[in-house]
Amino acid sequence: MGKPTGFMEYLREVAEDVAPSDRIHNWDEFHLPMNEESLRNQGARCMDCGTPFCHTGIEISRMASGCPINNIIPEWNDLVYRGLWSEALDRLHKTNNFPEFTGRVCPAPCEGACVLGITNPPVTIKSIEHAIAEKGWESGWITPNPPQQRTGKKVAIVGSGPAGLSAAAQLNSAGHWVTVYERADRPGGLLMYGIPNMKLDKKAVVMRRLDVLEAEGVTFVCNTEIGTDLPAAQLLNEFDAVILCTGATKPRDLPIEGRDLKGIHFAMEFLTGNTRTVLNGNPTEDFIAAAGKDVVIIGGGDTGTDCVGTSIRHGCNSVTQLEIMPKPPETRAANNPWPEWPKIYRMDYGQEEAAARFGSDPRSYLRTATHFEGDENGHLKAVHTVLVDWQKDDQGRFIPKHIEGSEKILPAQLVLLAMGFLGPEQPLLDSLGLDRDPRSNIKANHGEYTTSLPNVFAAGDCRRGQSLVVWAINEGRGVAKECDRFLMGSTDLP
Ligand SMILES: Cc1cc2nc3c(=O)[nH]c(=O)nc-3n(C[C@H](O)[C@H](O)[C@H](O)COP(=O)(O)OP(=O)(O)OC[C@H]3O[C@@H](n4cnc5c(N)ncnc54)[C@H](O)[C@@H]3O)c2cc1C
Ligand code: SF4
Repeated sequence: MGKPTGFMEYLREVAEDVAPSDRIHNWDEFHLPMNEESLRNQGARCMDCGTPFCHTGIEISRMASGCPINNIIPEWNDLVYRGLWSEALDRLHKTNNFPEFTGRVCPAPCEGACVLGITNPPVTIKSIEHAIAEKGWESGWITPNPPQQRTGKKVAIVGSGPAGLSAAAQLNSAGHWVTVYERADRPGGLLMYGIPNMKLDKKAVVMRRLDVLEAEGVTFVCNTEIGTDLPAAQLLNEFDAVILCTGATKPRDLPIEGRDLKGIHFAMEFLTGNTRTVLNGNPTEDFIAAAGKDVVIIGGGDTGTDCVGTSIRHGCNSVTQLEIMPKPPETRAANNPWPEWPKIYRMDYGQEEAAARFGSDPRSYLRTATHFEGDENGHLKAVHTVLVDWQKDDQGRFIPKHIEGSEKILPAQLVLLAMGFLGPEQPLLDSLGLDRDPRSNIKANHGEYTTSLPNVFAAGDCRRGQSLVVWAINEGRGVAKECDRFLMGSTDLP
């Protein structure tokens, strides 16, 4: 700890954002860099406490507490305070292959577990991580570093999201030849086609890292769906090991009356078509326009928020986000103590933008859709909604009971379903005959990643269900270690 009194001298500061009313006119990232002095002061707030919970990365109440990749946060906070940026980057890369991604999109469970956070606002860990990574790129410290020797072993990775990419980076560094297969036209998984450009710039940030991986020797094969364009059996024959990182991309549907009307889409259809259009510079075939429409987003989570921000940038007429759960409290509830992830009310970027554009938070809590109404041409016209009361049924399960008299009709020409995901798509797993867990994820233990087939491994959302980028990196690194052990008999990978 460079400055023992830092936490008493400096208040928490975070990176400023471009004003919501300005940023909604473009697709640029909206977090502004912090100046070096502020960052060093923020680093000085870290107390280097004896038991730093920020880097523990355990799950409490099914939420991450502390950093899931065990970033050695107090050490790089201190290095930043002392101005030793290159050393801070080395420390960060020891645990995190892609700090420029997590520094932008991680919800920062580390900050929820920061000891300073018990009595004061926590250390601004995520902004410091972001700054270290960007300093590394700007200073030319992040360059291709191919392995000195090759083992001659070949590994196929199916899926190029953060789990597949971190597994590829690690296995390539161990000297194996790695080929990453991706069905989309560009690699990156949800880093490319899920998280919108204004949160994570595709060309400047995602492709920059993909170029380094390629220069280090990783091969990317896009537009190739394993199980359709290329039989999975071929991979099993041609490679020494196969790692499945196919994500949890099966969306939850809402099969109520009117679901077949034109104008109702899954959130991912909307977000994918949008990013492809942003990248291509003109509307692609899969582009879904929200301009001039009343948009209703069903689902109050992060994917819904991305739909809010995207709809506003299209120039929608109005936007409403239905959330069936109650509004969270302003501060931690008694049953949600530190160091658990604080389940509190937050205005995320999309809600801030909706408030700037239309005057209020677009979320409507404890409200759900009962049916969709169409016009004579089969186009969506309105969403019928009702408030719910969560009551226990005979078996003690909470059920949302509709409240009579609370019905409300929302005009809508576009509905986006953002109600979460039901695990990985099954056809490839069926074709391999892999065992599944009760939630239809690939059955493989965390820390082992071995499936019911001897040379097939699984990691990321296809193993744990839809989660976070930082967990995908955790699993990608973990599966690389176990795959390397399988190939070589022992492993030196961290
Ligand atoms: C809209 C949205 C926004 C999100 N925002 C955030 C955020 O801000 N912060 C955060 O931490 N997390 C966020 N998440 C969650 C996070 O993106 C995921 O947890 C993470 O990307 C999972 O990584 P993964 O590598 O396991 O899978 P994915 O990123 O889903 O990648 C899987 C890849 O496998 C490919 N694939 C699947 N089947 C095949 C096949 N048969 N052949 C070839 N390729 C195949 C898919 O096309 C996909 O590219 C978000 C998720 C969504 C949906
Ligand atoms: S990866 Fe996420 S949890 Fe870990 S230090 Fe960075 S912001 Fe915190």
